[in-house]
Amino acid sequence: MPTDDRPEYDVVIVGAGLAGLYMLHRVRGLGLSVRVYEAGDGVGGTWYWNRYPGARCDVPSLEYSYSFDPQLEQEWEWSERYATQPEILRYIEHVADRYDLRRDITLGTRVESVIRDDEANRWAVTTDAGEEVWATFVITAAGCLSAPKPPEIGGLDSFAGTLVSTSAWPADGVDLAGKRVGVIGTGSSGIQSIPLIAEQAASLTVFQRTPNYSLPAHNAPLDPAVQRDWKARYREHRAAVLQARTGILVERGTRSALEVDPDERSARYAQCWDSGLFACIPASYTDIITDLDANETAAEFVRGRIREIVRDPDVAEALTPRGYPFGTKRICLDTGYYDTFNQEHVTLVDLRRTPLVAVTPEGVQTTEEEFGLDVLVLATGFDAVTGPLLRMDIRGRDGVHLRDAWAGGPHSYLGLQVAGFPNLFTITGPGSPSVVSNVVVSIEQHVDWIAECLRYLREHGVAAIEPDADAEAAWAQHVHDVAAATLYPQAPSWFVGANVPGKPRVFMPYLGGVPAYRQKCAEVVEAGYEGFVLHRPAVHA
Ligand code: FAD
Ligand code: NAP
Repeated sequence: MPTDDRPEYDVVIVGAGLAGLYMLHRVRGLGLSVRVYEAGDGVGGTWYWNRYPGARCDVPSLEYSYSFDPQLEQEWEWSERYATQPEILRYIEHVADRYDLRRDITLGTRVESVIRDDEANRWAVTTDAGEEVWATFVITAAGCLSAPKPPEIGGLDSFAGTLVSTSAWPADGVDLAGKRVGVIGTGSSGIQSIPLIAEQAASLTVFQRTPNYSLPAHNAPLDPAVQRDWKARYREHRAAVLQARTGILVERGTRSALEVDPDERSARYAQCWDSGLFACIPASYTDIITDLDANETAAEFVRGRIREIVRDPDVAEALTPRGYPFGTKRICLDTGYYDTFNQEHVTLVDLRRTPLVAVTPEGVQTTEEEFGLDVLVLATGFDAVTGPLLRMDIRGRDGVHLRDAWAGGPHSYLGLQVAGFPNLFTITGPGSPSVVSNVVVSIEQHVDWIAECLRYLREHGVAAIEPDADAEAAWAQHVHDVAAATLYPQAPSWFVGANVPGKPRVFMPYLGGVPAYRQKCAEVVEAGYEGFVLHRPAVHA
């Protein structure tokens, strides 16, 4: 029993984004005491922080939304096919209010350490506000893309203008009108924001190191009739989503890209281009993601479209992705991205040709030129998947640090738990579909699995659960093998940690697909939590 007067909870949840909120709802339903800590001053996670112009989802909103309550589905109206950040944030805030979640959430408070007390089978959780609490279970809902990557660019502090990051865009906006604006980074965040920044700025200079493959979103207002029809058959649609490899509804081809006639293939790619679904081309043939020749047919199609859109052939070439397979980084969905470079006041700086030297008080210095700027936007990405976890001081049994356990790269059983860290659960942890899926689908599955696990532990008098080290190693090997059978590891992407200097190169998400992964998780439960060690009655006994 606790020997001090720190508050004691059954469950502490870290993070109040889509994952943390639903987890809170489920934990409450089990009658457990719970506290959520959220570093931001509001709920919403990704959609609270990333308020840059143009931010919107890349999965249709009717699918990128909670499925757990049919009434919620019916009452919420999406206004666009791909909702903007403000609309998604309103939705999440609505959920927080509708289920009366806020009273258990402490905002503006970052969890700094999560340290196991083996004797008492509990965790000591401390926050940057100086709070110290005990928890039997800690559930991280800290997100895969919530820890901005240090940009490793010299001189940022010296910049005399306004420095902003897409991942912490000020809530009251940034005045870009009439300004000389620079953007560093051309991943999804850069690609979504650049067209809108160009609309406002007097001049826009885009500093690109690696071109990305981007497809048009074909976003539009959502036709009320379409929404009504979808809602009439929502259960059917949700069931279909769970059968889709990525958790996104898309037609899946059954033939190799290399066995069809080139004209037929191009027509199929053109259909996909017009569909506005980023998952369409990868799904169109069986081998786009596994065979380099098949992949090259898709890559070349996209390159051709870039050449068609961008009038200056040199700029088009600089924007053309080469050297890594199509689809092996998360494909971007844009609205007018390539066309933006046809505008007179927009300049592309190819940092592969003229590398960035430093940010100066006046702007950005490359090996060739200094670009004077009033506003500099960093769209430089995230220390993904493991970053949010390792930024906390997490210490498991015998004081072992998670960052030591993962020194060679993350290993986890099913992305849900790590051996040696009993009663710590990681929503969308490494080794689960997370960021290679419709993330809401993967979040809901993890939350449901964890909630059912907590119920099971209570009903069966189990004090603690953690993975068996062998089962964890076998799963990590499987995650690796599945990735190795694809072209994904060939790209220096954030999926493998390549964007953060010194980060171990391990393919972090699970590529086996949402249906196979769900089945595995269900089978583990049916087999009495196979691969997990259930400690009765106390973990140290
Ligand atoms: P998050 O939304 O990241 O929330 C985690 C929260 O935890 C954050 O608010 C953070 O402040 C908090 N936190 C972290 N560490 C601590 C700590 N130590 N103490 C306290 N609080 C902490 N996925 C898709 O499938 N489709 C999309 O269209 C899509 N668009 C995206 C757009 C952007 C700009 C980004 C960055 C990501 C996008 N993603 C998308 C991925 C997105 O992160 C997930 O879809 C989803 O929002 C994740 O929800 P979450 O609750 O797991 O994590
Ligand atoms: P990102 O994909 O990692 O892109 C970061 C960009 O910054 C890359 O172009 C990178 O170049 C560049 N960069 C990083 N450090 C740099 C440096 N020191 N000098 C010059 N350039 C540098 O990050 P992101 O755009 O934020 O997207 C991350 C993920 O979030 C996406 O893949 C997606 O899953 C999600 N997201 C989704 C949406 C959406 O459409 N709904 C929108 C935004 C984000 P290199 O490639 O050369 O490293």
